[in-house]
Amino acid sequence: MQTYAYGFPHLGENREFKRITESLWKKEISENEFEEALEKLEKDILSVYDEFVDKYPVGEITKYDKMLDTACMFGIYNVKNISGYYQLCRGKNALELTKWFNTNYHYLVPDFSHINDKFSFKQLNFEEVKKYRRGVPYLIGPFTFLKLSKGISNSKFRNFLLSLSDVYSGLLHELDEIHIDEPALCLELSSEEIGLIKKAYDSFKTSKCKIHLFTYYDSVDFLKELYDLPVYAIGLDFINGKENIEHIKKYSFPDDKVLIAGIVNGRNIWRTNIRESVVFLEEISSYAKNIIISNASPLYHLPITVEGENLDEKLTKKIAFAKERLQELKLISRAFEGDWELADEWNEETVDFGKNDNVRERIKNLKDKDFQRRCDYTERYRKQRKILNLPLFPTTTIGSFPQDKEVRRKRHLSKKGEINNNEYKEFIQNKIKDIIKLQEEIGLDVLVHGEFERTDMVEFFAQKLDGIATTENGWIISYGTRCYRPPIIYGDVSRAKPLTIDEISFAQKQTQKPVKGMLTGPVTILAWSYITEDITIEEVAYQIALCLQDEVKDYEEKGIKIVQIDEPAFREKAPIKKRNWDKYFNWAVKSFNLIVSQAKPETQIHTHMCYSEFGEIIKYILQMDFDVITIETSRSKGDIIGYFQNVNFKRQIGLGVWDIHSPYVPSVEEMKQIVNRALKAFPKENFWINPDCGLKTRDWPETKIALENLVKLAKEMRNVFS
Ligand code: GLN
Ligand code: ZN
Repeated sequence: MQTYAYGFPHLGENREFKRITESLWKKEISENEFEEALEKLEKDILSVYDEFVDKYPVGEITKYDKMLDTACMFGIYNVKNISGYYQLCRGKNALELTKWFNTNYHYLVPDFSHINDKFSFKQLNFEEVKKYRRGVPYLIGPFTFLKLSKGISNSKFRNFLLSLSDVYSGLLHELDEIHIDEPALCLELSSEEIGLIKKAYDSFKTSKCKIHLFTYYDSVDFLKELYDLPVYAIGLDFINGKENIEHIKKYSFPDDKVLIAGIVNGRNIWRTNIRESVVFLEEISSYAKNIIISNASPLYHLPITVEGENLDEKLTKKIAFAKERLQELKLISRAFEGDWELADEWNEETVDFGKNDNVRERIKNLKDKDFQRRCDYTERYRKQRKILNLPLFPTTTIGSFPQDKEVRRKRHLSKKGEINNNEYKEFIQNKIKDIIKLQEEIGLDVLVHGEFERTDMVEFFAQKLDGIATTENGWIISYGTRCYRPPIIYGDVSRAKPLTIDEISFAQKQTQKPVKGMLTGPVTILAWSYITEDITIEEVAYQIALCLQDEVKDYEEKGIKIVQIDEPAFREKAPIKKRNWDKYFNWAVKSFNLIVSQAKPETQIHTHMCYSEFGEIIKYILQMDFDVITIETSRSKGDIIGYFQNVNFKRQIGLGVWDIHSPYVPSVEEMKQIVNRALKAFPKENFWINPDCGLKTRDWPETKIALENLVKLAKEMRNVFS
């Protein structure tokens, strides 16, 4: 049984990619040094592939993002040198970043609005691709590339796809084999689009090049038509695309093609059960004559290796990161041929751990009423208004304030034990005192504590909750050189002690103004973590929700009057196929409502969302029983107002008036435009004024000025209406 792997993370075991790229940006190393270091990184990856699998692509490595590389390769952008390339990645003229399918990787969105109908795509540089002596040259497929770009009208799409395919076709004549990634074939596509794909791929017919076509993240709805494409091998995801196996049983698999069976998980970290995999392979063998096994989706959603992690041994024995996935492919292949020795060792009996009967009991006993607030919005509005006594157009921020060098240094020292807990705590308390004072000086109405104690909005909660582990070095790339460490939810999640009460109530003691309690919601915690598969994801979501419900109760006891539950990943976690949305949003919405169901009517509940396509999910947002939603507006250029207006939104809303992704400080006038537009849609009593998102990545000077402008705007607006 042959093995094929792809998508190995290019970060490097010690985040070398981040280091060299950022050093280049800071001009600490030369371009030559950078290129050399990058080449070494690539060589190392190829060696890892070589060690474990028979086949793999070459040319997957990127200086920032593969979609951008593809766009440059075809001449969508005319990039003359490396600094021109990075200008498209960061800074003023950077392309838009957007979530890659339903993952937490963000790609740069190629923009075709400057490209005219008669544009001819640049021919590919064959030498570049052929220089590799090993591996299968890698490309993103023409359909996925165009489908995920923006600024292409329906009428142009067809022509672009056909002419781009011609360019691919030219290249195919030069090559013996090629790896083509087409995850977009797993989207819900129209019959017109499917017809177009067929037509585009038809132009590959004349070459003898062996095309390895990869689909992943879900199943392909039109597998039978896919069989007609002139490709040598088809990669299918059997982990996240459960329907693929049904389709194969129905239509079988053509004898003249190779099935690349994706059977080790590229999205989650639980070890593959080798015996089950072999049984599965035997089963599909009766439908497909030629099979190669592979990972089910790219491996860059996993950290590089478990080796060196200091996790509980019981947990270590259950998990696999990218390198271990390659190992698994080898194990499955051997076991399939009868060599079971190492396979059985890999899956030796593990001890059951992480189970918490109390938590399970609590979930089992949940009734419908536990998912509903006791009092309706109108009544709550009346009560909250009396207590909070906020002015018209209340101003607030989304939670975090700049995490400058000082914060990062102190955190580092505390982690290394170089300053003791008390010293660190005092440092955080001083930061809180200062930030409360600053917000009062600026004149904001609802204050926050600044989130200085949080490295990351998910990791912070993961470290405090039972049933979740965090890693030392389990980094993955979120975009460019930006990394995070997804926590591992291995067991039942519970709250042994309060999570955030110390900091929030300390902050509240410093001021007469209300301070918001600040929580990360269950969907976002799940979206940015690896999750146990022992129970359903819905149950895990409710377990987290119950922890947060208890936290809200504690807030109330400490006199906190407003609680914000952040759900920036609410849209991202939605399944790729819309037909599966109801099921997902049902538990996603319920997990939110479970948190707030026991809250007093007087407690004002906020939620916050950002950087997503909200138009499509507005009906689900409405089912969340918050009092106020603060939402990012810059991305959709204010379209969001229309979405909420269409559904006759009656609750309070804070549209972001400051795009926090750039150091640019918006003027009062610029911010006023958004407010004025919004006032045509919402009554003035329902309107809040706030930035788009947290200010963690901003610097102090622009933060202060922008917030001053924001408060100035609120005051002007109040004058207009008084
Ligand atoms: N409260 C978080 C912050 O301000 C929200 C971040 C987010 O939406 N991604 O940083
Ligand atoms: Zn946000």
